[in-house]
Amino acid sequence: MDTMTTNTLSSAEAMELENKYGAHNYHPLPVVLKKGEGVYVWDCEGKQYFDFLSAYSAVNQGHCHPKIVSALNEQASTLALTSRAFYNDALGPYEKYITEFFGFDKVLPMNTGAEAVETAIKLCRKWGYEKKGVPANQAKIIVCEDNFHGRTTTIVSFSNDPDANENFGPFTPGFESIPHNDLSALETALNDENVVGFLVEPIQGEAGVFVPDEGYLSKAAELCRSKNVLFIADEVQTGVARTGKVLACDHENLKPDILILGKALSGGMYPVSAVLADDEVMMVIKPGQHGSTFGGNPIAAKVAVAALEVVREEKLAENAERLGNIFRAEMNRIIANTDLVNSVRGKGLLNAILVNDTPDSKTAWNLCVNLKENGLLAKPTHGNIIRFAPPLVMTEAQLMECVAIIEKTIMDYKK
Ligand code: PLP
Repeated sequence: MDTMTTNTLSSAEAMELENKYGAHNYHPLPVVLKKGEGVYVWDCEGKQYFDFLSAYSAVNQGHCHPKIVSALNEQASTLALTSRAFYNDALGPYEKYITEFFGFDKVLPMNTGAEAVETAIKLCRKWGYEKKGVPANQAKIIVCEDNFHGRTTTIVSFSNDPDANENFGPFTPGFESIPHNDLSALETALNDENVVGFLVEPIQGEAGVFVPDEGYLSKAAELCRSKNVLFIADEVQTGVARTGKVLACDHENLKPDILILGKALSGGMYPVSAVLADDEVMMVIKPGQHGSTFGGNPIAAKVAVAALEVVREEKLAENAERLGNIFRAEMNRIIANTDLVNSVRGKGLLNAILVNDTPDSKTAWNLCVNLKENGLLAKPTHGNIIRFAPPLVMTEAQLMECVAIIEKTIMDYKK
């Protein structure tokens, strides 16, 4: 067993260790990754793959981006963590940079996406009581069916996915779920005077890349404004250039009242999340009322600035927009010649194909195993949907190589 604790693990040994000593809360594809660079990852045996998941859209800037690595290394060997008991010299410049980048007065730094969602919920409720005048403990937040906002007990309280919430009750009250992409349902729900916020993913990622109708988000925001309700955009997955704009809300020229970011805010280098809002909302939180030991630490601050600079310098939103159009056109060409896939949908480089089989079939999983054999890593989201989300630093030539792998895998597939 000695070799198992060294760097020379085989893939089989690594899988055995995870299986034996780790909780079984994930069901990974049978591939063990050891190294990453740009759009590529390598397994323990040295086989190279295109990463078509990008750590659920955290690695938009590509694996081990040298600029982000160097920001991390430099700050890690200077000052890693002080807690917010004291000021640090990296946080202020980061706060200035990110608020100017996204156009908000203030930012509240956290670490994971779920924590940022929790923060937004608390902020919205507090604003509801202190600014809107909702009676104590009556605040309600509207959410959408099939949402995915993370895994905390409050967040799973308003999930309708049995995997997410079964046997995790009792649940947090104060949420009302309406169908996604349904303006009249929103209008009706907004009639309740105790509603303080509408929390929405501009594109539902985990649910299977559901893109709402054009105009839905801006009309929803308008409806919210007319009722003095905060429009909260969870852009943890869609933000930071993934959908072909810096924010998915930018497709509709929409500025949310509260913006939630995570994942690619650090280029996947470090857990960095953020909640952005203007003073009218953010200033309801006073010292001691919310926080996190790691939120706003110097490494996170430096890493996030570097990660956002990469987005701008390398025009990642523009690249995602251009390559996304090519990708969907190519998928439609393939779909025209096969019965195995029904459709492709998405925006920028956040896309999914719908496999022509029942949601509980193994077809999407088996296709992903075959894609892996052919050198491309992707994973089904729900049942028969496969999400495709490569790093945004991909070139057109690399994308066409990936299209060829996907085409071959689909054409060779035997049920
Ligand atoms: N919100 C959205 C839209 C997400 O897609 C995710 C993760 O996939 C989260 C929140 C939770 O982020 P984290 O896993 O970092 O807690």
